[in-house]
Amino acid sequence: MDTIKVKINGIEVCAPKGSTILEAARLAHIEIPTLCFLKEINEIGACRICVVEVKGARSLVASCVYPISEGMEIKTNSPKVLDSRRKTLQLLLSNHERKCLSCVRSGNCELQQLAKELGVEDENYYDGEKTPSCIDDSAIHMIRDNSKCILCRRCTAVCEKVQGIGVIGANNRGFHTTIGSAFEMGLGETSCVSCGQCIAVCPTGALQEKSQVDEVLAAIADPSKHVIVQTAPAVRAALGEEFGYPIGTNVEGKMAAALRRIGFDGVFDTNFSADLTIMEEAHEFLDRVQNGGVLPLITSCSPGWIKYCEHYFPDMTENLSSCKSPQQMFGAIAKSYYAEKMGLKPEDIVSVSIMPCTAKKFEIQRPDEAANGVPDVDYSLTTRELARMIRKVGLRFTTLPDEGFDSPLGLGTGAAVIFGTTGGVMEAALRTAVETLTGEELASLDFNDVRGMEGIKEATYPVAGMEIKVAVASGLGNAKKLLEMVKSGERTYHFIEIMGCPGGCINGGGQPQQPGYIRNTVNIRALRASVLYQSDKENPIRKSHENPAIKELYETYLGEPGSEKAHHLLHTSYVKRTIN
Ligand code: SF4
Ligand code: SF4
Ligand code: SF4
Repeated sequence: MDTIKVKINGIEVCAPKGSTILEAARLAHIEIPTLCFLKEINEIGACRICVVEVKGARSLVASCVYPISEGMEIKTNSPKVLDSRRKTLQLLLSNHERKCLSCVRSGNCELQQLAKELGVEDENYYDGEKTPSCIDDSAIHMIRDNSKCILCRRCTAVCEKVQGIGVIGANNRGFHTTIGSAFEMGLGETSCVSCGQCIAVCPTGALQEKSQVDEVLAAIADPSKHVIVQTAPAVRAALGEEFGYPIGTNVEGKMAAALRRIGFDGVFDTNFSADLTIMEEAHEFLDRVQNGGVLPLITSCSPGWIKYCEHYFPDMTENLSSCKSPQQMFGAIAKSYYAEKMGLKPEDIVSVSIMPCTAKKFEIQRPDEAANGVPDVDYSLTTRELARMIRKVGLRFTTLPDEGFDSPLGLGTGAAVIFGTTGGVMEAALRTAVETLTGEELASLDFNDVRGMEGIKEATYPVAGMEIKVAVASGLGNAKKLLEMVKSGERTYHFIEIMGCPGGCINGGGQPQQPGYIRNTVNIRALRASVLYQSDKENPIRKSHENPAIKELYETYLGEPGSEKAHHLLHTSYVKRTIN
C-alpha cells in the first residue's frame, strides 16, 4: 500500500495515500471533532467544525475532506483552530432554540456535547433575528423541529444516497435556508417511507419519532385495560447502549424485567410471532413454487420496505408475501387466541410493541391490520422510547435482574431471533422450507451465504431436485438496484428478502443514536447482529416449525398454515401509491 508521511501536532504519522487529514489524525489517536461528516454518505466539509491548520495554507481547512500530501504539517489543536471551532459553534447556537433542559436529545446531542467540550458559554451567543422555523408533525412517525436544525444535511444525504428516496432537501437560500420537502409540503404528504434513517443520523434534537410513551403509561394506569407488550429481536441487541453498555451487548433479561416493572400485564416476545411468520411465509412460498404463483416471492416484514414498494414499485406488490409482519401477527393472535385463553374481550386488551423501527408506527395504522375488529397493535414505541420510559418511571436498568418472557406468547426459536438482521428472515425461512420440501433434517442450520452486512447477497441452493435461487437486500437504495435487475430480467430468483434499513432492523430508524465519530469508525451493525447470531446459537430450538408454542397454536386454534382462520388473522393486502 502506498503511504504518505505527515506531521500532526508534531507527531510523525504514516497514512495510506488518499487519506484525509481526519483519517490520518485517527492513526495518531487524535479525534478531530465533526458535525456534518458521515463517511461515504455526507462528505461535504460544510459545518467547519473539523477545521485544522495546515502549514503554508492561506486559511484553515476542513479536515474531513482535505487530502494529506507528503511532508504536510498539520495542527489540530492550535489556539487559532480552537477559536475558529468555538466561533462556529457560537454562530450555530445563536440561531438555535436552546432548550437543552427539555430536549429529547439532551445528554446525547452532538451539538450540546461539542459546546461543553469547547467551553462555549451562555454569554457568548450573538442573539438577534433567527431563521424562521416551524414544526412539521404531518407524518405519522416523526416530527421535524427546524429551530434545532444545524443544516448539517446528514438527514438529506441518508434519505437520498442510502435510501434512494430524496423526499427532503434544503429549501430557500442563505439565512432563510431550512430543511424540508419540495414546495414546503409536509413530510406526511410526500412519499417518505417512514424508515427513520434521517432521525438515526441527526446529531441534534431537530428530528425525533412521534412519541406515545405517555399514552402507554396512561393505559397501564387504567385498571380496566389489560396491557401487553411484545419486543422485537433487534431491540435486545441495542437497548443497552442507552444505559452505557458496549455496542453488541444482549440485554434481553433486563429488558423483560424492566417491562414487568413498568407495569405491563404480559411481557412477550415478537420472536414468537416471527416463528409464526415463517410458518405462514414458508407455506406461501412452497405453494407459489409448486402451483405456479407469482415469483419471486418477496418478504413483507419490513414496513418501510412495504411502503417503498407501494410508492416506487407498485407493479411488484403482487410479489409481496401476503403475510402480516411479526408485529401485526402478534397483535392479531393476542386479541384472538390469547384473549380467549385469558377470558378477555379484544377491546379490553391494549397491545403495545417495542420496535427498532419508526415505520412500525405507520404500519399499525394501515388498513387491513385489524383482524378482530380492533387494531392488531395499539401503540408501537421505538427502542429509544423504551429507554426514555425506563428512565421516566425511575428504573435503574443496570441493576435489574435478568428475567424471562411470559407464556404462551413469549417463546421464540433461534430462527426467529435472527429476523433482526439482514438475511435472517431468509435463513429462518430456508430452515423450514428446505426441511418441509425434502422431509429430511438439515445437516447444518447455518446459511452463511445470506449472512453479513453486504447490501445485496445472492445464493442458490439445490433442494429436492430444484435449484432455489434467493437474494437478500437491505437499505432501500440496494432494494432498488436488486428490483431493477429482476425487472430487466438480468436476474431471476424464487425468493427475496428485503429490509428497509441498511443492515436490517438492528440498524433501524428507532434504534439508539450513536454519534458521528462512532458511526464513522465502528461497525455498529455487525456488533449488534453478532448478539442475534449468538442468541440463535445458544437456543436449544433453532427452527420455527419446532417451536412448541407455535405447534400448539396450530393444533388447538389455527389448524394448518394457510388455513382460512390463519388467512383471516395473519395475512394482509397492499395498496398502489404514487410518488410525491
Ligand atoms: S438539539 Fe442539542 S443543543 Fe439543541 S436544545 Fe436539544 S440538546 Fe440542546
Ligand atoms: S423517514 Fe426515511 S424516507 Fe422519510 S425522510 Fe427520513 S430517511 Fe427519508
Ligand atoms: S434535521 Fe438534523 S440531520 Fe438534518 S440537517 Fe438538521 S440537524 Fe442535520
